[in-house]
Amino acid sequence: MVANKPKMNRPKVYQFKLGDFTITNLLEGYIHREDMHPVTGTNATADEVQAVAEANRLPFPNFEHNFVPSMVDTGDKLIALDPGFGARAHGPTTGWLNDLLPEAGYTLDDVDYVVVTHCHPDHIGNLTTAEGDPTFPNAEIVFGRTEFDYWMKGENIPSFRPPTLKMFQETCVPMADRARYVEPGDDIVTGVTAVDAFGHSAGHMAYHIESNGQELMIMSDTVAHYAVSLSHPDWHFGMDDNPEAAVVSRKRVLSQVADDKMAAIGFHMPFPSVGYVERRGDGFAWVAASYQMNLER
Ligand SMILES: [Zn+2]
Repeated sequence: MVANKPKMNRPKVYQFKLGDFTITNLLEGYIHREDMHPVTGTNATADEVQAVAEANRLPFPNFEHNFVPSMVDTGDKLIALDPGFGARAHGPTTGWLNDLLPEAGYTLDDVDYVVVTHCHPDHIGNLTTAEGDPTFPNAEIVFGRTEFDYWMKGENIPSFRPPTLKMFQETCVPMADRARYVEPGDDIVTGVTAVDAFGHSAGHMAYHIESNGQELMIMSDTVAHYAVSLSHPDWHFGMDDNPEAAVVSRKRVLSQVADDKMAAIGFHMPFPSVGYVERRGDGFAWVAASYQMNLER
């Protein structure tokens, strides 16, 4: 009787308190890839990446790449940190955010700010609908100044980035006059602060969240793969626009998260994509949260 029922149910919404704030991670989608090498370590050998996979009980070379935007609800303002792909989905297993939002208790109209950590397709596609209208009608869009200016110039972009530039022109440029531009150290609202994580893209930023003594780093794409990128922060991610600069930022952000023992979210960490970072050997390790976030703290 149940032979043809779907058997791949998986959680797509995870909500927790951080001080007085409510954080919601939404599984905007996933893709399955078969190129763990070279994409998670373009300057490593296939054998080296395979060894990390096996040590973490992961298959090789196929892997799952998650896409996880975060909503930060301060009680007063609702902030979406990256809108996801939306209508510019990367196949049927992505583009879920807008449908999931009601499950988190929100509507598209409720969003006050959409903060774009960087202008790659999985982080900007949902700024506008397929028809070109703003997806979040009441939101102010926030770009990093360096990032926006880089794509606006559109010069000397990596050879694999023309489609990214095209999507930037389609979704970000029409938002330019309703946007706000921030630099590292600027607050979006009190407790939500831009952090220099340049390298993955020219002006890629992380966001530090603090409420009532609780701290969280929304790392965005500072790290690409929870096992490979943390254990070997020197290894280049194939989607890093400036790989050497990305290494410097990766080590700086991971060091801060580990040493200050704060919580962290990574846009491409396995859902629910929240955890901690510890120093291990010459690199770091991802310590996925279990029930910590569910306790009153
Ligand atoms: Zn990304």
